[in-house]
Amino acid sequence: MEIIVARNSGFCYGVRRALQLARKTGKKSGQRIFSWGEIIHNPEVIAGLQKDGILVADSLRQLQPGDTVIIRSHGVSPGVYRALKKKRVRLVDATCPIVKKIQQTVDGLSRQSGEIIIVGNKNHPEIQGLLGYSRGKARVVENEEQARALPFRKKRAVLAQSTQDGQLFSQVVGVLAEKTAELQVFNTICQSTRIRRVATAELARQVDVLLIIGGKNSSNTNKLFQISRRLLPRTYFIESPEEITPEMLRGVNKIGLSGGSSTPPEVINKTVAAISHSFQQNSHQEKVTHE
Ligand code: SF4
Repeated sequence: MEIIVARNSGFCYGVRRALQLARKTGKKSGQRIFSWGEIIHNPEVIAGLQKDGILVADSLRQLQPGDTVIIRSHGVSPGVYRALKKKRVRLVDATCPIVKKIQQTVDGLSRQSGEIIIVGNKNHPEIQGLLGYSRGKARVVENEEQARALPFRKKRAVLAQSTQDGQLFSQVVGVLAEKTAELQVFNTICQSTRIRRVATAELARQVDVLLIIGGKNSSNTNKLFQISRRLLPRTYFIESPEEITPEMLRGVNKIGLSGGSSTPPEVINKTVAAISHSFQQNSHQEKVTHE
């Protein structure tokens, strides 16, 4: 029995940085601390932060002057910054620097002529933040069909949510090229997302079963699940090792594990330990490999 953990599984740079900043703030501050929305899409981590006194705020009404508010890695719109400053809270900005750069790109494009197309999930907080930088010039496209429904334009720019699927982005760019005289393309998909997806797809081709570990509300973890499921029907999405069933491990010689950018490394390690334990009980030998 072999357990293989995909390359780049678990927290990405932006999420790790946001959590470090949040924990540091929690230790130092004597005031009430909130993150503006859940700092990452992972229930276990959110529960841990709450124990450390870092609560989640999603409305200005929850805040009072003097509170500390942490902006998560997804970033926020200029309108939200203004509203928070008006509330006279202390801001700790944990926006991922890569997302900041995409915000600056949208801001720059919004000062030029032409429409801005953002390929992503319109309800995702990163997209909500980006829209705020566009001065009303951006529209969100979630799939190829929506791109096909767009009218012809003289000038457009297209970019992507940092965790967007590369294949969908290319398809939308292809459609827009037919519908735009002058199209500027900014591939803003984060490198860490790309590597994780390629590693997961490679692993799905090598193993009998692949477990995708992470919060069910994490869009990038869901994407990993879809990628693997297309290649390997025995792909399962779990939030914690407690969800592993005997059926998932039946007849398996090689099992792969992969996690999204909001999956804590400890959960991946616990999953490895749980699988090893289950196989030891069935008198098998196991070998653990980290790609
Ligand atoms: S996925 Fe990339 S852009 Fe998004 S938070 Fe992580 S490192 Fe930053």
